[in-house]
Amino acid sequence: MLNTTIYELGSARFIAFSNNEMSVGLTTVRLPDKERLLEYANVEGWAEGGMNYFLLDTGRQKVLFDTGTNVSYDGLLLKRLAEIDINPEDIDVIAITHMHSDHTGGLITYDGEAAFPKAKLYISKEDVDYWVERDELAGYVVDKYAGRLFAFEQNRQITSEVLSIPAFGHTPGHTMYKITVDGQSLLVWGDIVHAYVQFEHPEVYLVYDTDTKLALKTRFEVMKRVADENLPIAGVHITKPGVGKLSSIGSNSYKFTSGLTK
Ligand SMILES: [Zn+2]
Repeated sequence: MLNTTIYELGSARFIAFSNNEMSVGLTTVRLPDKERLLEYANVEGWAEGGMNYFLLDTGRQKVLFDTGTNVSYDGLLLKRLAEIDINPEDIDVIAITHMHSDHTGGLITYDGEAAFPKAKLYISKEDVDYWVERDELAGYVVDKYAGRLFAFEQNRQITSEVLSIPAFGHTPGHTMYKITVDGQSLLVWGDIVHAYVQFEHPEVYLVYDTDTKLALKTRFEVMKRVADENLPIAGVHITKPGVGKLSSIGSNSYKFTSGLTK
């Protein structure tokens, strides 16, 4: 269980599954001022990132947040779940932050079937509408989960513990999920950040954003909010296990500290 980290969130377990380390390349990173970007790039670890997905286990219900890439690439989600005695049919709900393949790939097995036979699948309406026209995997997911896919409107209570919050920009319907159990909260923030440099310099962005300006605005707002509220976050592309807190170190500049301690 080298890459599985279990936290307590009230009476629930919040579990981070982490795959291979990931780092972004200079060619994918943008900043209006090129000189400054090269300056940042000299800071050790600037490009570091990760590949995590998360599970909330309340005892009554198991909610999965994103599923990693397809089995043909790393396929570790089902293996990681098995390591903690969870079968695919035990997953009740899957909440997807957005329909990029590194988040939805694990929904489909190597044989092309739905990996989770009983789960209700929640994806924002904006993302389903946008990607189903443009992306083969998105169309496949919609097809294989027909009848139990809920393309929801924002600010929706997905379960009694999980609330969807819009964080558009990275994709048209990019969604965060705020979990609250016994008064303790945590924000699954999806792809607000892709590389370490973006904590200290949130103005750095990547070419993968559908709407760059909106993604930047969202990142500034979300980072300020979680730092102000001392709200822990779980990020898919933060170095494993991807769970921690932000503290302000200047105007629009933050330090990330790993872990869930107060
Ligand atoms: Zn991603």
